[in-house]
Amino acid sequence: MEKTISELAMLWSRILEKIRIRLGEDGAPVFDTFFKDTYISEIRGNKLIIATNTLVAENCLNSSYKGMVDEIVRDSMESDFEVTFVHLTSEAKEKSDDSRPTFFASSKLNPAYTFKNFVVGQSNREAYQASLMISKNPGELYNPLLIYSDSGLGKTHLLHAIGNAIKSSSPNKRVLYVTTQDFFDEYVNFVKGEHGDDNLKTFFKTSVDVLLVDDIQMLVGKRKTEEMFFSVFQTLYSMGKQIVITSDQHPSRLEGLDERLKSRFTQGLPLSINVPDKETCEAILRMRIEANGLDVSQFDPEVISFFATKFSTNVRELEGALNRLIFYVVNVRPSQHITLELAIDSVRGLIDVKTDEANLSIAKIINVVADYYNLSPAQITGKIRTSQIALARHIAMYLSRDILDAQYVKIGEAFGGKDHATVMSAIAKVGKMLKDDTELSKAIGDIKGRLSNNHI
Ligand code: ADP
Ligand code: MG
Repeated sequence: MEKTISELAMLWSRILEKIRIRLGEDGAPVFDTFFKDTYISEIRGNKLIIATNTLVAENCLNSSYKGMVDEIVRDSMESDFEVTFVHLTSEAKEKSDDSRPTFFASSKLNPAYTFKNFVVGQSNREAYQASLMISKNPGELYNPLLIYSDSGLGKTHLLHAIGNAIKSSSPNKRVLYVTTQDFFDEYVNFVKGEHGDDNLKTFFKTSVDVLLVDDIQMLVGKRKTEEMFFSVFQTLYSMGKQIVITSDQHPSRLEGLDERLKSRFTQGLPLSINVPDKETCEAILRMRIEANGLDVSQFDPEVISFFATKFSTNVRELEGALNRLIFYVVNVRPSQHITLELAIDSVRGLIDVKTDEANLSIAKIINVVADYYNLSPAQITGKIRTSQIALARHIAMYLSRDILDAQYVKIGEAFGGKDHATVMSAIAKVGKMLKDDTELSKAIGDIKGRLSNNHI
């Protein structure tokens, strides 16, 4: 008669209880040391194979207690069973554990990635909305949801956000996040033979309600893993379980990927994330600054704008640059106010500073002029036209041309996107005024002095 695992476990625990009583108080140490951790490993004919926790236990129990245990077992099971104690080596143990395998034991959701801390913009709106919808109705809308983009644009973040949202609204749903590499490793290292294949399939069938698979492009060229994944996909899909997949490109462009997988992956909703626009990058920066316990107002707006422009193609790099800046202003040059110059210093090496030399210098001129007139750099590059601010602005433009010979267009960009004609006329105006305004020539002389002293 076949017995289920739990029936066997109950049966053995009843037998153990009898053994404990038979051994009595004096035998308690023997019971605790040798018997307590034993369990039924297998029933082979009339042989009851009992697993022990060490080889010593195996020897001791077989030589000294077998007769007593046989008797108790025969009484309890009313049949002619004979007990053998064995210590299972780790290899054998794996095999015996096969009946209740736990795969992907170390796969976890990262609680740091949520919908709340995902900044939404034009570039990622669709992917965000679809992810949010899916987390509210897993398995009911698009299956699979596939998000693809270049690296560093938020795919992994969204995948975890979906998982975290489902876990918090439906704690009973079993969410599994795996990278394709995990899937490959697990399959190659732990699944052996047909039996193992079936176990893995059973695991997905019985233990997963929502499957989140990251970086599916890694499947390419791994034939057997592809096949296994196909089977797992079909099973979960047919059971109405939600599947979300990410890829670094649209599946149709994954050369060498099984055609069946390509078509399955795109049958739900494939969505792309694009490079974020400047506004989104700036919002991400502000959010990260606050998340680091700093105040955004400590940063010159130019700093945010510069980073958002310079590191816009990859949010991971954007964050990396910001972390570097934060490290720098906390540890290297502690400062309450973070200027563009400081910011550029902190990321020197990350960027090709040469191409930024003109910008940097214009920025420096803006800072020095602002300082000279007790204004903020933002006022200089802004739109307000009170005479004092306008004059300072025009002087800074004039100096940019005079000292750096910067192009009008470049100057315009550095001054908050002023057009070429505006810049030209401002510079001409200052040139003309200089001819007979001694106060102005003195101011410009002073400012040049400060600039050459690197005073900032
Ligand atoms: P991918 O998986 O596409 O390579 P990630 O999800 O790992 O990218 O994102 C890289 C980093 O950028 C992560 O720290 C992530 O939190 C962050 N990130 C990406 N997009 C956004 C966003 N829209 N809002 C906030 N953080 C983002
Ligand atoms: Mg990723």
